[in-house]
Amino acid sequence: MRCSSLPSLLRPAIAGLLALAGATPGRAAVEVVTTTTDLAAIAREVGGDRVRVTAIAAGYQDPHFVDAKPSYLLKLQRADLFVQVGLELEIGWAPTLLGNSRNAKILPGGVGFVDASQGITRLQVPSAADRSAGDIHAYGNPHYWLDPANGGIVAANIAAGLARVDPPGAAAYDAALAAFGNKLDAALHRWSAAAQPLAGVPVVAYHNSYVYLEQRFGFRVVGFVEPKPGIPPSGRYVAELAEEMRRQGVKVILMSTFYDQKTANLLAKLSGARVVTLANSVEGLPEVKDFFALFDVNLERLLAAVKE
Ligand SMILES: [Zn+2]
Repeated sequence: MRCSSLPSLLRPAIAGLLALAGATPGRAAVEVVTTTTDLAAIAREVGGDRVRVTAIAAGYQDPHFVDAKPSYLLKLQRADLFVQVGLELEIGWAPTLLGNSRNAKILPGGVGFVDASQGITRLQVPSAADRSAGDIHAYGNPHYWLDPANGGIVAANIAAGLARVDPPGAAAYDAALAAFGNKLDAALHRWSAAAQPLAGVPVVAYHNSYVYLEQRFGFRVVGFVEPKPGIPPSGRYVAELAEEMRRQGVKVILMSTFYDQKTANLLAKLSGARVVTLANSVEGLPEVKDFFALFDVNLERLLAAVKE
């Protein structure tokens, strides 16, 4: 039987069922838009079935540089809550999108605006910002989501934002936040124990994105493939770095999926080190499905590299 031949009496009933499948009856989902997939993963943990979450940047994209597609504007227009990493990570694209969203609620200072970096202990805050030296972040290194402990602070910021835009859900958000905190505490113990073999291991990183992960897992970043953040290396710089890596016995080059593989592979060949690709964000690698998997998978890859 084709749909068009359904008895007309049945059609409203089916339409009603379809509407119910999308949301809990009597309550529209709180629309949350986040800049990154990490924030989205945490928002889902805290918001549960009261929220519908969309991330703008895909997990395999470089969050510094995102194409501000007009299709995101539609999502922002309808958003109840907007969550950003902050510390100028998204400065190249998020303010433009927000400015064009025609949704005052989610602008900085609005009830629906969350800067997830509130309360984070910032690392590498420059004493005098000097942008001529490359992509220097004036408020400190913005890659703080790569310390899993910071996930708890992010979750608290998001829970507070959700409670502002959806007061009847406040108790549910509080409970989910506490559950997330417990799960995170248990994982932090597990990760600290597993990371023991990484203590003091020297590594070179493509971009300056691992200062928070370094602090948590105990390895030591001794150099960068980028001479300055956001600036690609010359052939001469790569050769000199390779020499320095041999001198210091650096065996690992940390990469993300979106950096230049060719440069990393050349450096590996010249230095005798191996390239280890880490997920920069949730969904940055296919197996990284949530915030916990981000660290399970990255830790596993780091451990496999130092074992060899
Ligand atoms: Zn950066």
